[in-house]
Amino acid sequence: MEVNCEGCAGCCIDWRPLGAPDDREREGRYRALDDAYNLVALSRDEIREFVADGLGDALVPRLFAAEGDHTVTVDGHEVAAVGGRPAFLVGLRKTPKPVAPFDGERVWLDACAFLDPTTLKCRIHETDRYPRRCHTYPGHNLELDAETECERVERVHGEAGDHLVDDAVPADLPPPPLDRGAIGSTVFLYPDPDAVEGAVARLVAGEATVEDRAAFVACAAASAPGTGTVDDDRMARERERTLAADSWVAAADREWRDAAADRGSPVADAPDPDAVETDRGAPPTDDWE
Ligand code: SF4
Ligand code: SF4
Repeated sequence: MEVNCEGCAGCCIDWRPLGAPDDREREGRYRALDDAYNLVALSRDEIREFVADGLGDALVPRLFAAEGDHTVTVDGHEVAAVGGRPAFLVGLRKTPKPVAPFDGERVWLDACAFLDPTTLKCRIHETDRYPRRCHTYPGHNLELDAETECERVERVHGEAGDHLVDDAVPADLPPPPLDRGAIGSTVFLYPDPDAVEGAVARLVAGEATVEDRAAFVACAAASAPGTGTVDDDRMARERERTLAADSWVAAADREWRDAAADRGSPVADAPDPDAVETDRGAPPTDDWE
C-alpha cells in the first residue's frame, strides 16, 4: 500500500459539502448516531494514553442505531447493544476549520481536531499519539475491497492513481474496529443504559456536554479487552482525569466554532490558525514532509 497524501487530507476532513460521494457510516446494519465523517476509532490503550496526556477532551464517543435483539432503547433510539449494554467506539473529535483541500479556495469544513488547517498535515504524525487506524489507513478498505477515501477523492477531485499509488493490502493490519473480538479493545459496552439517558439524545443532536463525553471515554479506558468487564474504580479515576483535561484541542474547538460559518461556505473572515492552535500548544507541522 502506498498513498500520496500531499495536499489531500480527504480522510481527515468532512468533505461532503465538496462532493464526497457517499456516507457509508450511516448505512447498513450499524449506523452511526452522530454525524461525524470518517471517525478515527481508537483502541483502549490509545484512549488511556490520550487521557494520560491531558487530551481526554479531544475524544468523542460514537453509538450506533440498529434493529433487532441486540439493541436497547435509550432516549427513544434503538441503540446497538450487547446484553442490554449500549455498544460504542471512541474516536478523535472533529472541529470546523478553514481549510483549502483539493487545490480549492478556503472553506469551512469539519476536520480532525489534529489536522493543521494551513498545511493540511497531521499534527500528531510520527508521535506516540498517532492513531494506529490512521497509520494503517486505507488498509482495511483494501482488505475488504471497499472503495478507499483516496479513490473517492480521485473520483471527484483528481485522477486515478493521484492518491492511491499502490493498493496492496499491508501485512501488519490490526483487526478492524468492529471485529467480532473487539469488545473491550475498540468496541466498548456502557454498564448501565439508564446512566446515559439524555447523553445519547445530546450526542445525536451534536450537543454532547463535557460530562457526556467523559462518561464514555472513562468507560472505554476502564474496559478489559476480550470481555465486557469495566473496572469501576478505574472508570471513576479516568472520568476525573478526562474532566480535568484542558487541552489546546478543546480551546481551539471553542474558538473555531464561534468563528465558523456554514460548512462548505467560503472563508470570509477567520482567526489566524497559528493564534488559535499553535500558540495554545498544538504541535507545528512545518518540520515534516
Ligand atoms: S484520503 Fe488517502 S491520500 Fe488522502 S490523506 Fe487520506 S490516506 Fe492520504
Ligand atoms: S490523527 Fe492525523 S491522520 Fe488521523 S485523521 Fe487526524 S489529522 Fe488525519
